This record gives sequence, C-alpha cells and structure tokens, in this order.
Amino acid sequence: MNAIDLRKVTGTARLQALRIVLIGPPGAGKGTQASVLRERYGLAHISTGDMLREEVRRETALGLQARSLMAAGQLVPDTLILDMMSQRLQQPDVARGFLLDGFPRSRAQGQALVATLGQLKQPLHAVIQLDLEDEEIVRRLSLRRSCPSCGRVYHLQTNPPTLHGLCDSDGAALQHREDDNEQTIRTRLSVFHQQTRPVIEFFRSLGLLRTLDASLPIEHVQHLVERHLRAAMVRNSPLSTSRRFAVTRYRSLGKVSR
Ligand code: ADP
Ligand code: ADP
Repeated sequence: MNAIDLRKVTGTARLQALRIVLIGPPGAGKGTQASVLRERYGLAHISTGDMLREEVRRETALGLQARSLMAAGQLVPDTLILDMMSQRLQQPDVARGFLLDGFPRSRAQGQALVATLGQLKQPLHAVIQLDLEDEEIVRRLSLRRSCPSCGRVYHLQTNPPTLHGLCDSDGAALQHREDDNEQTIRTRLSVFHQQTRPVIEFFRSLGLLRTLDASLPIEHVQHLVERHLRAAMVRNSPLSTSRRFAVTRYRSLGKVSR
C-alpha cells in the first residue's frame, strides 16, 4: 500500500499521502510508533538519529562532525541537519507521505521545514507530540536495546526480543546505544527542554499540534496516534464534513452549479 486509503475513512476514492511529524523527548516512543506506521501505511520513516548514526558508521565528513556531539547528547548544528534533510526530502519515496522522527529539534529547523514544505505545496498534516515525564524516560532509555542493522528498538522489560540479545526481524546482535547512559540521557533531556520545546510551541501556534500521553502501553499509544492520523486525514480530505457542509450550503444558495 503506497498511501493511506481514504476510502476507509471518508468514503471517497482518493488516496492521500500523509506528512506527519512525531515529536517528543528522547525515549518517548517515536521510533517505536513510527515503525508500526511505516509498515501499516507505507509511509517513509525519516529518523535523523538513524541517518546520523549511519553517517558516523560510514565515517563521512558529516559523521565525523556529528560523532562527538551525539555521544555528548548535544544537538548537531542546524545547518548540517538542514543540508542532510533537504537532500532526504528530495528522494522519490517522500511523495507517498512521510513520518519525521527526531526532526525538527530546534525552532530554526521547524521554521525551515514549514517554509520548505510550503514552497513544495506539501504542507504538514499534523504534528503528534508524545508526552512523557523525565524519570520514566531515564528508565526507558537505560534498558533500550536497538538493532544496528534494521533500527528496530526493544526494551529489556516492557518490549523484549524473543531470543535474548537478538533482533526478532533479522537476528542481528542488539546494541546498547553509547548515548543511552544516565548522564547523557539527562543532558539530552535538558537539551530537549531548552531547544526542542520552543519548536513544539511553534507548531502549537500553527494549529498543527496534537498531544498524547506516551506513558500508556505501546498498543494504546498506537491507537491514539492512529486516531489523530484519521482526524488529520478527514480534516484534509476534499470531502471533509465541514467542506461538504459548505458545498451543500453554497449549492443551496445557487453559488455552486452542480
Ligand atoms: P532519540 O531516539 O533518543 O530521541 P535520536 O536517535 O533521534 O535520539 O538522536 C540521537 C542524537 O542525534 C541526538 O542526541 C543528537 O545528537 C542527534 N540528532 C538527531 N536528530 C537531530 C536533529 N534534528 N538536530 C540535531 N541533532 C540531532
Ligand atoms: P524514541 O524514538 O522517542 O527515542 P523509542 O521508540 O526508541 O523512543 O523507545 C524508547 C524505549 O522505550 C525503547 O526501549 C522502547 O521499547 C520503549 N517504549 C516505547 N514505547 C513504549 C511504551 N508505550 N511503553 C513502554 N515502553 C515503551
């Protein structure tokens, strides 16, 4: 499936490519939710953290600049991230809709994203905020394990792999990320509060923000995310209730001919 089938939601025959941002502190569950949505709806999952880790692994110029900042829990400079993202957003898979995970993380990144998508006439449909308390984040990230090959994430207590230490999808040995130690987690949290909260407020001011409680179990959060996605689809559908109402009213006033 290449795009969300609106027939199931609005009764129209149109397909819609959704453009969504998942935003929240490290460990809120953005990657976990994004991988479900990617599989279910065929949306491109664009994680700046995964992209940067790949640059580090390949020892590219960007990777060499990013490595020590990532290990320290600091943000990689906006200019580097925006260059990387402007290339990524030109890839063909983006046309079928995308989920941004870990981007934007600063107000400058948020403004650049909105401006770029505006120029492309492909505005965002919604920004879904996964909200979670700091202490729960420390607990989650300390026991997070990730697959270095496919990016799938696990939690040793709440979401363990079937075979100890091995990815269910491809059998690769799971890793404990270098930045998932308590000291760096706390630095990342303070970076989130100082630099990423302002972009959340920016999206709120644009009327795009939908907030949900990320402390609920994974399936429950998934249900809430999908509810927001359906609402965003209906709102943006050409035959949404409000549009249907407006068209009907205009027709009754003789302002629409058919
Ligand atoms: P998490 O999943 O824990 O939120 P990520 O994998 O998204 O973390 O990011 C890991 C690190 O990569 C960040 O701590 C930061 O150093 C860097 N990074 C990722 N995305 C961005 C971004 N949009 N802007 C700046 N730095 C970023
Ligand atoms: P993010 O991408 O926001 O940094 P992840 O999706 O990597 O977060 O999740 C962080 C950790 O929390 C992982 O170990 C994951 O298995 C676990 N996790 C994710 N969502 C939930 C949830 N709703 N309840 C409990 N644990 C969760």
